Amino acid sequence: MNRVSAIEALRREIGRRADGLPETTVMEVCGTHTHAVWRNGIRQLLPANIRLVSGPGCPVCVTDEADLARALWLAKQKNVSLCCFGDMLRVPCGEESLLALSAEGADVRVCVSPLDALAAAREEPARTFVWFGVGFETTAPHTAALAERARKLGIPNLCILSAHKTMPEAIRALLSGESRVGALLCPGHVAAIAGAETFRFVPEELRLPAAVAGFEAEDILAALAAILGMLRAGKPNLVNAYPRAVTPHGNQTARALQEMVFEPCGAVWRGLGAIPASGLKLRKDFADLDAQKRFSIPQFSLSEPRGCRCAEVLRGTLEPTGCPLFGRTCAPQNPVGACMVSSEGACAAYYSYGGNR
Ligand code: SF4
Repeated sequence: MNRVSAIEALRREIGRRADGLPETTVMEVCGTHTHAVWRNGIRQLLPANIRLVSGPGCPVCVTDEADLARALWLAKQKNVSLCCFGDMLRVPCGEESLLALSAEGADVRVCVSPLDALAAAREEPARTFVWFGVGFETTAPHTAALAERARKLGIPNLCILSAHKTMPEAIRALLSGESRVGALLCPGHVAAIAGAETFRFVPEELRLPAAVAGFEAEDILAALAAILGMLRAGKPNLVNAYPRAVTPHGNQTARALQEMVFEPCGAVWRGLGAIPASGLKLRKDFADLDAQKRFSIPQFSLSEPRGCRCAEVLRGTLEPTGCPLFGRTCAPQNPVGACMVSSEGACAAYYSYGGNR
């Protein structure tokens, strides 16, 4: 069967399984899914009673303003180079951003891998390099690899500001209790590292069907078909609809590395607030690499940009087009909030693929 026929067969199957079901909201937790859904026109293929909403799965978007303010503060220090992924550069923080600081002369370096920061630290021993670690189970092992390598090589001028987060506690916090979300499309790349079984709590504790999905149109449709099958049968379960990349227990090497370097801690999520055990901090053995300990970073308390409704977008209670600033004062070339900046942000996805009114 060619690809088009496969997609058409899945569309028909979804139509059959959705027939007679009440209106159902499926949350795609992951920002990459949000973009894939729009890019592939998945919404247009779904029956009217099946609705997709975006969740808190864009790592840049959920990075709290206070964490970003800490990174900006570090970038302003003498002889400090702040290293991060490129997505963080344009995220507004009050009147500032890492990009604006860089234009004013701060040494902000975009890295494709945390190990780039290590290479830079070895080349310039007179400067202190800080890796700003952001992201979920997919990027945390890379930061862990940096910590492990720095420890092994004994690099004194390198440290880590960890804003890493993990998915399960945030999903629990978001979907426990009153929620209009009836099923979960679980992120394939998090599951590739953490294992599909990481999401077992969704059917067992939250009593919601869950399917791990990849990022091609047919991956997402197959996962949605599985979810609708479970809803129809009234039997919530976990389905791995991305078996070519995801195993039940994930990448053991990456998980062991993450476990060796990090331990769970409370974390503040933009839009979701403080969630116990949803962040990752360096273990005691790696405390000398902790930028928080090496510098006396002040505490920051900041609020969302005026009028920005990223918090509701990240909780899945507002579609980006419901924000009065969407497409008016807020657009990818001039973003007001984090959800319009990131390549995984829901507002950016809506804007890029036709949600722009
Ligand atoms: Fe925030 Fe812009 Fe999205 Fe509105 S459209 S929620 S201002 S990022």
